[in-house]
Amino acid sequence: MSEQKKQFETEAIRTQIERSQFLEHSVPMYLTSSFVFEDAEDMRASFAEEKDRNIYSRYANPNSSEFIEKVCKMEGAESGFAFASGMAAVFSTLAALLDSGDHIISSKSIFGSTHSLFTQFFPKWNIATSYFDANDLDNIEALITPTTKIIYAESPTNPGVDVLDLEALGNIAKKHGLIFIIDNCFASPYLQQPIKFGADLVIHSGTKLMDGQGRVLAGITVGSHELVDKVYRFSRITGPSLSPFNAWVLSKSLETLAVRVDRHCANALELATYLEKHDKVEWAKYPFLKSHPQYEIAKKQMKAGGCVVAFEVKGGLEEGRRFFNSIKLLSLSANLGDSRSIITHPASTTHSKLTKEEREAVGISDGTVRVSVGLEHIQDIIADIEQALG
Ligand SMILES: *Cc1c(COP(=O)(O)O)cnc(C)c1O
Repeated sequence: MSEQKKQFETEAIRTQIERSQFLEHSVPMYLTSSFVFEDAEDMRASFAEEKDRNIYSRYANPNSSEFIEKVCKMEGAESGFAFASGMAAVFSTLAALLDSGDHIISSKSIFGSTHSLFTQFFPKWNIATSYFDANDLDNIEALITPTTKIIYAESPTNPGVDVLDLEALGNIAKKHGLIFIIDNCFASPYLQQPIKFGADLVIHSGTKLMDGQGRVLAGITVGSHELVDKVYRFSRITGPSLSPFNAWVLSKSLETLAVRVDRHCANALELATYLEKHDKVEWAKYPFLKSHPQYEIAKKQMKAGGCVVAFEVKGGLEEGRRFFNSIKLLSLSANLGDSRSIITHPASTTHSKLTKEEREAVGISDGTVRVSVGLEHIQDIIADIEQALG
Protein backbone atom coordinates (compact mmCIF):
# COMPACT_ATOMS: atom_id res chain seq x y z
CA MET A 1 0.00 0.00 0.00
CA SER A 2 1.45 3.36 -0.97
CA GLU A 3 1.89 5.88 1.82
CA GLN A 4 0.17 9.25 1.53
CA LYS A 5 2.49 11.99 0.29
CA LYS A 6 3.32 14.51 3.00
CA GLN A 7 4.32 18.17 2.88
CA PHE A 8 7.87 19.21 1.93
CA GLU A 9 9.00 20.02 5.50
CA THR A 10 7.61 16.75 6.85
CA GLU A 11 9.29 14.62 4.16
CA ALA A 12 12.58 16.49 4.80
CA ILE A 13 12.46 15.46 8.46
CA ARG A 14 10.67 12.10 8.40
CA THR A 15 12.33 10.42 5.42
CA GLN A 16 14.70 8.07 7.20
CA ILE A 17 16.33 4.72 6.48
CA GLU A 18 15.24 1.70 8.50
CA ARG A 19 16.24 1.77 12.20
CA SER A 20 18.99 -0.58 13.37
CA GLN A 21 18.47 -3.10 16.23
CA PHE A 22 19.31 -0.27 18.70
CA LEU A 23 16.15 1.68 17.75
CA GLU A 24 18.00 4.99 17.53
CA HIS A 25 15.85 8.10 17.03
CA SER A 26 18.32 10.05 14.85
CA VAL A 27 19.96 8.17 11.98
CA PRO A 28 23.47 6.74 12.67
CA MET A 29 26.47 7.17 10.39
CA TYR A 30 27.35 4.09 8.35
CA LEU A 31 31.09 4.57 7.95
CA THR A 32 31.75 1.33 6.11
CA SER A 33 33.30 0.76 2.71
CA SER A 34 31.67 -2.63 2.16
CA PHE A 35 28.80 -4.88 3.32
CA VAL A 36 28.74 -8.62 4.14
CA PHE A 37 26.76 -11.48 2.61
CA GLU A 38 24.91 -14.41 4.21
CA ASP A 39 26.41 -17.06 1.96
CA ALA A 40 27.66 -17.74 -1.56
CA GLU A 41 24.16 -17.66 -3.05
CA ASP A 42 23.35 -14.31 -1.39
CA MET A 43 26.58 -12.88 -2.77
CA ARG A 44 25.97 -14.23 -6.27
CA ALA A 45 22.40 -12.91 -6.37
CA SER A 46 23.51 -9.51 -5.04
CA PHE A 47 26.19 -9.07 -7.70
CA ALA A 48 23.75 -10.27 -10.38
CA GLU A 49 21.48 -7.40 -9.21
CA GLU A 50 18.69 -9.85 -8.44
CA LYS A 51 18.58 -8.23 -4.98
CA ASP A 52 18.39 -4.52 -4.16
CA ARG A 53 20.93 -4.28 -1.35
CA ASN A 54 24.16 -2.56 -0.36
CA ILE A 55 27.36 -4.14 -1.69
CA TYR A 56 30.07 -1.51 -1.65
CA SER A 57 29.91 2.20 -0.76
CA ARG A 58 31.16 3.30 -4.18
CA TYR A 59 27.79 1.96 -5.48
CA ALA A 60 25.49 2.77 -2.56
CA ASN A 61 25.51 3.34 1.21
CA PRO A 62 22.59 3.74 3.65
CA ASN A 63 23.47 7.39 4.42
CA SER A 64 23.74 8.30 0.72
CA SER A 65 20.49 6.45 0.01
CA GLU A 66 18.66 8.49 2.66
CA PHE A 67 20.04 11.76 1.26
CA ILE A 68 19.04 10.72 -2.29
CA GLU A 69 15.54 9.66 -1.22
CA LYS A 70 14.95 13.03 0.45
CA VAL A 71 16.08 15.01 -2.57
CA CYS A 72 13.97 12.82 -4.89
CA LYS A 73 10.88 13.56 -2.78
CA MET A 74 11.70 17.29 -2.74
CA GLU A 75 12.25 17.48 -6.50
CA GLY A 76 9.47 15.06 -7.49
CA ALA A 77 12.05 12.73 -9.08
CA GLU A 78 12.00 8.95 -9.46
CA SER A 79 15.65 8.25 -8.77
CA GLY A 80 19.05 9.81 -8.03
CA PHE A 81 22.77 9.41 -7.42
CA ALA A 82 24.91 11.36 -4.92
CA PHE A 83 28.39 12.71 -5.66
CA ALA A 84 31.44 14.00 -3.79
CA SER A 85 30.91 17.53 -5.16
CA GLY A 86 28.61 19.52 -7.41
CA MET A 87 31.19 19.38 -10.20
CA ALA A 88 31.45 15.59 -9.88
CA ALA A 89 27.67 15.54 -10.43
CA VAL A 90 27.88 17.84 -13.47
CA PHE A 91 30.78 15.98 -15.08
CA SER A 92 29.58 12.43 -14.39
CA THR A 93 26.00 13.14 -15.48
CA LEU A 94 27.08 14.61 -18.81
CA ALA A 95 29.86 12.08 -19.40
CA ALA A 96 27.40 9.24 -18.80
CA LEU A 97 24.90 10.58 -21.36
CA LEU A 98 27.11 12.01 -24.13
CA ASP A 99 28.94 10.23 -26.94
CA SER A 100 31.76 11.54 -29.05
CA GLY A 101 30.23 13.79 -31.74
CA ASP A 102 27.33 14.96 -29.55
CA HIS A 103 26.41 18.60 -29.10
CA ILE A 104 25.25 20.58 -26.03
CA ILE A 105 23.22 23.78 -26.09
CA SER A 106 23.95 25.71 -22.91
CA SER A 107 23.05 29.01 -21.32
CA LYS A 108 26.02 31.41 -21.35
CA SER A 109 25.44 32.22 -17.68
CA ILE A 110 26.58 29.01 -15.99
CA PHE A 111 28.89 28.19 -13.10
CA GLY A 112 32.55 28.93 -13.96
CA SER A 113 33.86 25.36 -13.64
CA THR A 114 30.96 24.02 -15.74
CA HIS A 115 31.88 26.56 -18.40
CA SER A 116 35.53 25.42 -18.26
CA LEU A 117 34.43 21.78 -18.56
CA PHE A 118 32.49 22.60 -21.74
CA THR A 119 35.22 24.75 -23.31
CA GLN A 120 38.50 23.16 -22.13
CA PHE A 121 37.78 19.43 -21.72
CA PHE A 122 34.72 18.25 -23.67
CA PRO A 123 36.23 19.30 -27.03
CA LYS A 124 38.98 16.71 -26.59
CA TRP A 125 36.26 14.01 -26.65
CA ASN A 126 34.69 15.72 -29.65
CA ILE A 127 31.76 17.11 -27.68
CA ALA A 128 30.87 20.65 -28.78
CA THR A 129 28.83 23.33 -27.00
CA SER A 130 26.84 26.27 -28.38
CA TYR A 131 25.72 29.05 -26.04
CA PHE A 132 22.53 31.06 -25.83
CA ASP A 133 21.93 34.30 -23.97
CA ALA A 134 19.95 33.79 -20.75
CA ASN A 135 17.81 36.81 -21.70
CA ASP A 136 17.13 35.67 -25.26
CA LEU A 137 15.52 32.24 -25.40
CA ASP A 138 14.09 32.96 -28.89
CA ASN A 139 17.39 32.08 -30.56
CA ILE A 140 17.78 28.63 -29.02
CA GLU A 141 16.04 26.66 -31.76
CA ALA A 142 18.41 28.11 -34.35
CA LEU A 143 21.32 26.46 -32.47
CA ILE A 144 19.85 22.94 -32.64
CA THR A 145 21.64 20.55 -35.04
CA PRO A 146 21.13 16.82 -35.78
CA THR A 147 23.83 16.01 -33.16
CA THR A 148 22.31 18.11 -30.36
CA LYS A 149 21.51 15.95 -27.35
CA ILE A 150 21.25 18.21 -24.30
CA ILE A 151 19.91 21.62 -23.27
CA TYR A 152 21.71 22.82 -20.14
CA ALA A 153 20.92 25.84 -17.94
CA GLU A 154 20.87 27.37 -14.46
CA SER A 155 18.23 29.67 -12.97
CA PRO A 156 18.64 32.07 -11.26
CA THR A 157 22.03 32.68 -12.83
CA ASN A 158 25.32 33.39 -11.08
CA PRO A 159 26.15 36.20 -10.38
CA GLY A 160 23.70 38.19 -12.52
CA VAL A 161 20.56 36.65 -10.91
CA ASP A 162 18.77 36.50 -14.27
CA VAL A 163 15.78 34.17 -14.36
CA LEU A 164 15.22 31.76 -17.27
CA ASP A 165 11.73 30.59 -18.20
CA LEU A 166 12.00 26.88 -17.36
CA GLU A 167 8.68 26.00 -18.96
CA ALA A 168 9.74 27.61 -22.27
CA LEU A 169 13.03 25.70 -22.18
CA GLY A 170 11.20 22.47 -21.32
CA ASN A 171 8.87 22.92 -24.29
CA ILE A 172 11.79 23.42 -26.70
CA ALA A 173 13.51 20.31 -25.33
CA LYS A 174 10.34 18.24 -25.67
CA LYS A 175 9.63 19.45 -29.21
CA HIS A 176 13.12 18.45 -30.38
CA GLY A 177 13.55 15.30 -28.27
CA LEU A 178 16.45 16.74 -26.26
CA ILE A 179 17.47 15.95 -22.69
CA PHE A 180 16.80 19.04 -20.56
CA ILE A 181 19.15 19.44 -17.58
CA ILE A 182 18.89 22.15 -14.92
CA ASP A 183 21.51 22.94 -12.30
CA ASN A 184 19.07 23.98 -9.55
CA CYS A 185 21.67 24.89 -6.96
CA PHE A 186 20.86 28.61 -6.70
CA ALA A 187 17.18 27.99 -5.96
CA SER A 188 17.42 24.79 -3.87
CA PRO A 189 14.63 22.20 -4.17
CA TYR A 190 12.59 24.18 -1.64
CA LEU A 191 12.15 27.18 -3.95
CA GLN A 192 11.96 25.56 -7.38
CA GLN A 193 11.28 22.08 -8.78
CA PRO A 194 12.35 22.10 -12.46
CA ILE A 195 10.87 18.65 -13.21
CA LYS A 196 7.41 20.28 -13.01
CA PHE A 197 8.45 22.49 -15.93
CA GLY A 198 9.83 19.71 -18.10
CA ALA A 199 13.38 19.11 -16.83
CA ASP A 200 14.59 15.53 -17.33
CA LEU A 201 17.44 15.77 -14.84
CA VAL A 202 18.13 18.17 -11.96
CA ILE A 203 21.64 18.67 -10.61
CA HIS A 204 22.63 20.28 -7.32
CA SER A 205 25.80 21.30 -5.63
CA GLY A 206 24.92 20.20 -2.08
CA THR A 207 27.78 22.44 -0.94
CA LYS A 208 25.57 25.53 -1.09
CA LEU A 209 22.06 25.93 0.42
CA MET A 210 21.59 22.19 1.03
CA ASP A 211 24.40 22.04 3.59
CA GLY A 212 23.89 25.71 4.32
CA GLN A 213 26.68 25.94 6.87
CA GLY A 214 29.76 25.81 4.67
CA ARG A 215 31.03 22.46 6.00
CA VAL A 216 30.99 19.79 3.28
CA LEU A 217 31.21 19.40 -0.49
CA ALA A 218 28.52 17.33 -2.16
CA GLY A 219 26.53 16.95 -5.36
CA ILE A 220 23.45 15.09 -6.54
CA THR A 221 21.61 14.32 -9.78
CA VAL A 222 17.94 13.30 -9.76
CA GLY A 223 15.40 12.54 -12.49
CA SER A 224 13.81 9.63 -14.35
CA HIS A 225 14.82 6.01 -13.58
CA GLU A 226 15.97 5.59 -17.15
CA LEU A 227 18.42 8.51 -17.26
CA VAL A 228 19.62 8.17 -13.66
CA ASP A 229 20.37 4.49 -14.29
CA LYS A 230 22.84 5.53 -17.03
CA VAL A 231 24.43 8.02 -14.61
CA TYR A 232 24.58 5.31 -11.92
CA ARG A 233 26.20 2.70 -14.24
CA PHE A 234 28.91 5.20 -15.21
CA SER A 235 29.49 6.52 -11.69
CA ARG A 236 29.67 3.21 -9.82
CA ILE A 237 32.57 2.32 -12.11
CA THR A 238 34.37 5.68 -12.20
CA GLY A 239 34.06 6.42 -8.45
CA PRO A 240 32.86 10.01 -7.82
CA SER A 241 30.49 8.85 -5.02
CA LEU A 242 29.59 10.92 -1.96
CA SER A 243 31.20 9.82 1.33
CA PRO A 244 28.78 8.41 3.96
CA PHE A 245 30.00 11.05 6.44
CA ASN A 246 29.09 13.92 4.14
CA ALA A 247 25.80 12.21 3.21
CA TRP A 248 24.90 12.04 6.92
CA VAL A 249 25.71 15.76 7.36
CA LEU A 250 23.66 16.66 4.27
CA SER A 251 20.63 14.59 5.22
CA LYS A 252 20.58 16.32 8.64
CA SER A 253 20.92 19.72 6.93
CA LEU A 254 17.89 19.03 4.75
CA GLU A 255 15.75 18.72 7.89
CA THR A 256 16.13 22.50 8.32
CA LEU A 257 16.27 23.52 4.64
CA ALA A 258 12.79 25.07 4.54
CA VAL A 259 13.19 27.23 7.67
CA ARG A 260 16.70 28.30 6.68
CA VAL A 261 15.81 29.19 3.11
CA ASP A 262 12.70 31.11 4.23
CA ARG A 263 14.96 33.33 6.37
CA HIS A 264 17.64 33.63 3.66
CA CYS A 265 14.96 34.87 1.26
CA ALA A 266 13.34 37.28 3.73
CA ASN A 267 16.76 38.81 4.53
CA ALA A 268 17.74 38.97 0.85
CA LEU A 269 14.51 40.71 -0.17
CA GLU A 270 14.94 43.26 2.62
CA LEU A 271 18.56 43.95 1.63
CA ALA A 272 17.65 44.25 -2.08
CA THR A 273 14.80 46.66 -1.26
CA TYR A 274 17.19 48.77 0.82
CA LEU A 275 19.92 48.79 -1.85
CA GLU A 276 17.56 49.69 -4.67
CA LYS A 277 16.77 53.00 -2.98
CA HIS A 278 20.36 53.85 -1.95
CA ASP A 279 21.85 56.89 -3.71
CA LYS A 280 25.33 55.31 -3.94
CA VAL A 281 23.94 52.23 -5.70
CA GLU A 282 23.47 52.25 -9.49
CA TRP A 283 21.06 49.29 -9.52
CA ALA A 284 20.09 46.27 -7.42
CA LYS A 285 18.81 43.00 -8.82
CA TYR A 286 16.88 40.26 -7.05
CA PRO A 287 14.30 37.89 -8.62
CA PHE A 288 11.50 38.95 -6.27
CA LEU A 289 12.00 42.72 -6.69
CA LYS A 290 9.24 44.12 -8.92
CA SER A 291 11.93 45.91 -10.94
CA HIS A 292 13.58 42.60 -11.94
CA PRO A 293 13.11 42.10 -15.72
CA GLN A 294 11.85 38.53 -15.23
CA TYR A 295 9.85 39.18 -12.04
CA GLU A 296 6.71 37.53 -13.47
CA ILE A 297 8.61 34.38 -14.51
CA ALA A 298 10.33 34.24 -11.11
CA LYS A 299 6.90 34.42 -9.41
CA LYS A 300 5.60 31.64 -11.67
CA GLN A 301 8.39 29.14 -11.05
CA MET A 302 9.90 30.04 -7.64
CA LYS A 303 8.45 30.10 -4.12
CA ALA A 304 10.75 33.03 -3.15
CA GLY A 305 13.73 34.84 -4.63
CA GLY A 306 16.71 32.92 -3.19
CA CYS A 307 19.70 34.08 -1.15
CA VAL A 308 21.68 36.03 -3.78
CA VAL A 309 21.41 39.76 -4.44
CA ALA A 310 23.47 41.54 -7.11
CA PHE A 311 24.07 45.28 -7.18
CA GLU A 312 26.40 47.90 -8.61
CA VAL A 313 28.26 50.45 -6.53
CA LYS A 314 28.43 53.82 -8.29
CA GLY A 315 31.96 54.85 -9.33
CA GLY A 316 33.23 51.73 -11.14
CA LEU A 317 36.15 49.51 -10.24
CA GLU A 318 37.93 51.92 -7.91
CA GLU A 319 34.89 52.72 -5.79
CA GLY A 320 34.02 48.99 -5.82
CA ARG A 321 37.43 48.15 -4.35
CA ARG A 322 37.14 50.86 -1.69
CA PHE A 323 33.70 49.51 -0.76
CA PHE A 324 35.12 45.99 -0.44
CA ASN A 325 37.98 47.05 1.78
CA SER A 326 35.51 48.74 4.13
CA ILE A 327 33.37 45.63 4.72
CA LYS A 328 33.74 44.39 8.32
CA LEU A 329 31.11 41.76 9.14
CA LEU A 330 30.38 40.03 5.82
CA SER A 331 32.91 37.41 4.65
CA LEU A 332 34.96 37.95 1.53
CA SER A 333 34.70 34.39 0.22
CA ALA A 334 33.74 32.44 -2.89
CA ASN A 335 31.02 30.21 -1.41
CA LEU A 336 27.30 30.95 -1.24
CA GLY A 337 24.19 29.69 0.53
CA ASP A 338 26.00 29.77 3.89
CA SER A 339 24.52 30.91 7.22
CA ARG A 340 27.23 33.60 7.15
CA SER A 341 26.67 36.40 4.61
CA ILE A 342 29.29 36.42 1.87
CA ILE A 343 30.23 39.23 -0.47
CA THR A 344 32.18 38.87 -3.73
CA HIS A 345 33.40 41.08 -6.54
CA PRO A 346 33.10 38.84 -9.65
CA ALA A 347 35.04 41.13 -12.04
CA SER A 348 38.27 40.89 -10.01
CA THR A 349 37.82 37.30 -8.71
CA THR A 350 35.55 34.50 -10.01
CA HIS A 351 35.17 36.02 -13.50
CA SER A 352 38.57 37.74 -13.83
CA LYS A 353 39.69 35.29 -16.56
CA LEU A 354 36.92 36.54 -18.86
CA THR A 355 37.39 39.66 -20.99
CA LYS A 356 35.35 42.76 -20.11
CA GLU A 357 33.07 42.03 -23.12
CA GLU A 358 32.58 38.39 -22.06
CA ARG A 359 31.75 39.56 -18.54
CA GLU A 360 29.24 42.09 -19.82
CA ALA A 361 27.62 39.39 -21.97
CA VAL A 362 26.81 37.48 -18.77
CA GLY A 363 25.64 40.58 -16.89
CA ILE A 364 28.75 41.46 -14.88
CA SER A 365 29.95 45.06 -14.96
CA ASP A 366 33.17 46.22 -13.23
CA GLY A 367 31.23 47.46 -10.20
CA THR A 368 28.94 44.42 -9.83
CA VAL A 369 28.83 43.06 -6.29
CA ARG A 370 27.24 39.72 -5.35
CA VAL A 371 25.95 39.14 -1.84
CA SER A 372 24.92 35.72 -0.61
CA VAL A 373 22.65 36.88 2.18
CA GLY A 374 23.05 34.78 5.31
CA LEU A 375 21.11 34.22 8.50
CA GLU A 376 22.59 36.98 10.69
CA HIS A 377 20.07 39.61 11.81
CA ILE A 378 19.17 41.73 8.79
CA GLN A 379 19.86 44.97 10.70
CA ASP A 380 23.50 43.96 11.16
CA ILE A 381 23.87 42.90 7.50
CA ILE A 382 22.45 46.23 6.29
CA ALA A 383 24.51 48.21 8.85
CA ASP A 384 27.77 46.71 7.53
CA ILE A 385 26.91 47.48 3.91
CA GLU A 386 25.68 50.94 4.89
CA GLN A 387 28.97 51.89 6.61
CA ALA A 388 31.01 50.48 3.70
CA LEU A 389 28.98 52.47 1.14
CA GLY A 390 29.22 55.54 3.39
C1 LIG B 1 29.09 25.69 -6.56
C2 LIG B 1 28.33 25.35 -7.77
C3 LIG B 1 28.64 24.20 -8.52
C4 LIG B 1 29.79 23.28 -8.16
O1 LIG B 1 29.62 22.68 -6.92
P1 LIG B 1 30.86 22.17 -6.03
O2 LIG B 1 30.18 21.48 -4.92
O3 LIG B 1 31.66 23.36 -5.64
O4 LIG B 1 31.65 21.25 -6.89
C5 LIG B 1 27.88 23.94 -9.63
N1 LIG B 1 26.87 24.76 -10.02
C6 LIG B 1 26.55 25.87 -9.32
C7 LIG B 1 25.44 26.73 -9.80
C8 LIG B 1 27.27 26.21 -8.19
O5 LIG B 1 26.97 27.34 -7.51
